[in-house]
Amino acid sequence: MKTTKEIIQRARELGLGIPAFNLPHLPMVEPVIRAIRDQDSFALVELARVEWIKFGAKSPSAVMAEYRKWEDPQHVRIHLDHVPVIDEDQNKVDYRAIIIEGLALGFQSVMIDGSRLSLDDNIRVTREVAELAHAKGVPVEAELGAVLGHEAGPLPPYEELFATGKGFTRPAEATRFVKESGCDWLSVAIGNIHGAVGEATKNQKKLEARLSLEHLEALSVATGIPLVLHGGSGIRQADMLASMKKGIAKVNVGTEIRQAYELTLAAKGSVAAAQDAVYDRTSSLLKDWFGLAGIRARILA
Ligand SMILES: [Zn+2]
Repeated sequence: MKTTKEIIQRARELGLGIPAFNLPHLPMVEPVIRAIRDQDSFALVELARVEWIKFGAKSPSAVMAEYRKWEDPQHVRIHLDHVPVIDEDQNKVDYRAIIIEGLALGFQSVMIDGSRLSLDDNIRVTREVAELAHAKGVPVEAELGAVLGHEAGPLPPYEELFATGKGFTRPAEATRFVKESGCDWLSVAIGNIHGAVGEATKNQKKLEARLSLEHLEALSVATGIPLVLHGGSGIRQADMLASMKKGIAKVNVGTEIRQAYELTLAAKGSVAAAQDAVYDRTSSLLKDWFGLAGIRARILA
């Protein structure tokens, strides 16, 4: 069976970005996997720490138990997303314990997020996690640059951020980071922003983000590894599709399917109806938004 590392490498070669769907609520697992299979697509499902702290995912072991009921490795793999060293509320996190637990549970790839640290400290913690994960044959995603949006409080004005490139991943730093940290995939900041997770803002529609494709191209050359786009919900579609041709091999999608679940549950009071909404949204994202229906055979070839 192809490993997740080989699959993401293959996606990069084909100019495809594999979606990674976040799972903030346990009943989302089944309809997301079913949609991926019914589209004969290939995708990851993933769990970030914020989803068991602030949403309904409960714990890594609870999500893994649910995943095991529906797993289908010819269509889907499971990834441990954002294990922050410093979280969105500026708290220190015992990231090492979470990574060790995730590896023991069988997550097939893991992300360490040291993006709120200095470059040297981010390299150091990523190196530490890469050693733990690689010993088990598991690839590691890291983040360099500031993908904003999870923090409490208002975002700085987006147009100003984009125009100045403030917080964008710097190519020279990325070259050094990848070489010294040993990470397999790198999450980059090129205009993308995370969906809000705060109580006051999490139900709002995300603003349409754009991507600097020239900047992405420079980062792809500078690193030579698969790059990851966080905040995949609500990016301008043409930019999203172009980014896949320029090195983005994994695209995280959280807000779109979370809001489908939560808003339907709130409106109808039925978990089954909310699951149907997640199935429909995931299906249409794969088919109409990403154009990735039927890609499974090419990805696994
Ligand atoms: Zn993210």
